[in-house]
Amino acid sequence: MADVESLINRHIREMEPYSSARDEFEGNADVFLDANESWYSGECDANRYPDPRCRDLRKLLESTMNLPFDMTAIGNGSDEVIDLLMRMFCREGDSVMVSTPTYGEYRVFASTNNLRTIDVSLKESLELDADGIIAALGRENPKIVFICTPNNPTGRVYPLSDVRRIADANSGITVVDEAYSDFAEGFESAVSLIAGNPRVVVMRTLSKSWGLAGARVGILVADPVIQRTFVKMKPPYNVSLLNQRAAIRVLSEPERYRDVVSQVIADRKIMERKAAEYPFVREVIPSEANFIVIRTDDADRLYRYLLSKGIIVRNRTKERYLSGCLRITIGSKEENRRLMEALDGYEAC
Ligand SMILES: *Cc1c(COP(=O)(O)O)cnc(C)c1O
Repeated sequence: MADVESLINRHIREMEPYSSARDEFEGNADVFLDANESWYSGECDANRYPDPRCRDLRKLLESTMNLPFDMTAIGNGSDEVIDLLMRMFCREGDSVMVSTPTYGEYRVFASTNNLRTIDVSLKESLELDADGIIAALGRENPKIVFICTPNNPTGRVYPLSDVRRIADANSGITVVDEAYSDFAEGFESAVSLIAGNPRVVVMRTLSKSWGLAGARVGILVADPVIQRTFVKMKPPYNVSLLNQRAAIRVLSEPERYRDVVSQVIADRKIMERKAAEYPFVREVIPSEANFIVIRTDDADRLYRYLLSKGIIVRNRTKERYLSGCLRITIGSKEENRRLMEALDGYEAC
């Protein structure tokens, strides 16, 4: 198989990176007159440009999440990571592969980059069709295969052995989106595959288990060749000083967030059990993420009813295999109680 460097678009490999003021200086200094910043610090002490390499944040990722420093880079949310990976490995007319029902952003960014999206859908059991994907690889030659585990919106974790088998058969890049992995007990991360297969790229995020969706912190975990190229391509100041500061704060207190995650997992199990008892719930699709998925006879009706009670859930009834399904995020104790109270009062047709 080709080495990973040769998979990177040539114009990207050969481009000169932007050299920011802070990149060009080495050593110690305490008078910074190099970047045309204001000396005056008004709001939030944000008069200085942020660290383009997010070094303090990444050191904490190493100590709290065990992600090696030279293998991580930060995007403005996973969104930016997805977009930059496509721009790194794909050119107009190339294709990427997804397995629906899954996260919609892969297809959206494929469209903005003028890429085709090939869908090898899940099996009806909502398992990943690993053999189907491997068979399609040869035919379609996608530049990137996206695997989301635990999957949104089904909550299913795919066996790491299947992920490995696909990645090994794939001569392109396999991106494993692990946004929800903290909610899956005993989860085995694809980060462990990278050493043996540098075409594996993992995405994590601080948006879910770390409570920082508003700060937009997406994490790339990849072979250092890909990591360095990512840092070279990305806008130098893509993660604001305020966002880096927020990320550093939460990562400095991991116990707090682990407690919240434990509570979410416990509440998910309670809600799944309770939801199964409602006569209008035909099925509870087992989830290992921070949401439950219920199937009813009339998802649109239940959706509108909940909305009338001031509760918004996600209607997934139009997705393949998910007719009648609502995806419901696990909220606080109070929010969950409000949901259950509303469901208690729902009269099915
Ligand atoms: C929520 C989510 C993310 C997180 O995206 P951010 O841009 O980091 O907020 C990534 N992948 C999936 C599948 C998600 O559902």
